[in-house]
This record gives sequence, structure tokens and C-alpha cells, in this order.
Amino acid sequence: PANQVSMVFDSCWENEGFARMAVAAFIMNMDPTVDELADVKTAVSEAVTNCVIHGYNGGPGKIYMNCRREDHVITVEVIDHGIGIEDIEKAMEPLYTTRPELERSGMGFAFMEAFMDNLSVESTPGKGTRIVMEK
Ligand code: ATP
Ligand code: MG
Repeated sequence: PANQVSMVFDSCWENEGFARMAVAAFIMNMDPTVDELADVKTAVSEAVTNCVIHGYNGGPGKIYMNCRREDHVITVEVIDHGIGIEDIEKAMEPLYTTRPELERSGMGFAFMEAFMDNLSVESTPGKGTRIVMEK
């Protein structure tokens, strides 16, 4: 049967770790391989990190994470109500970053695309960003 969990947490570094562990706990009973588990945790980590540094610019805010399992497919949704993205296509290009001074390498979306089977990004400047990943 399908299963779904939703959570809301504060935007901070500590909760990047929380989100990784939470998604790992969620998919544990799907009997993932070591690689699958690592892939999903990395993708979630990149998504949540983006909410913290870009969406909320290191300031306060809430991050929403919804995990769903249907048969052998897992869907993870990560939402922030932060600054949003002006040009999604450009933001998703490998090596593109708006924060080079923070030593970001612009690879987050590329990793999410590589490690998951499907990635969709919706964003409204000033309103926030929603990403949906499937594996
Ligand atoms: P890295 O992930 O390698 O540390 P990065 O975060 O800059 O670097 P991506 O994760 O690929 O690279 O994101 C590319 C760009 O998209 C970011 O520099 C930022 O401008 C924008 N972006 C990504 N996620 C968000 C978000 N949640 N809110 C606002 N802007 C975002
Ligand atoms: Mg990133």
C-alpha cells in the first residue's frame, strides 16, 4: 500500500541532517540498496541546503518535506517560502551559482538530477520554491 509522511522544520543546518535521516528512515522498509539510499539522502541534502542558503539566505523560515511511497516509487517534495528563483532553466545548469562567494559550486541541481530519476522545479520570485523528485 501507499504511504505518506509530511514534516515542517526550521531552516537551519541542523535540519539538513534531520531531513537526510528522516528520508532514510522513511524508505528503509522499501529495502533500498546501499546506493539507492545514498542517492536519495544526497538529493534531499542538496534540496534542503538550497532552501537554507538560497531560499532563506541563512535567515529564519520553514521548510516543508513530504515523502510518498507508491509501490516501488518514492517521491520527495521539498518546499520553501523564500526568495524564489528568477530563471529556473539557468539555475539548473551545471556550475551555475548565484553564490560563488559562499564557495558554492553550482552542482546541487545537477546532483539531484543525476541521483534521482525525475526532478521538477517550480518557483515564483518572492514566493518560494517547490521541487519534486522521484526515484
Ligand atoms: P551547490 O549546490 O553546488 O553548493 P548552488 O546551490 O549554487 O551550489 P544549485 O544547487 O545547483 O547550486 O542551485 C543553483 C542556483 O539556483 C543557486 O545558486 C540559486 O541561485 C538557485 N536556487 C536553488 N535552490 C533555490 C531555492 N530553494 N531558493 C532560491 N534559489 C535557489
Ligand atoms: Mg545547491
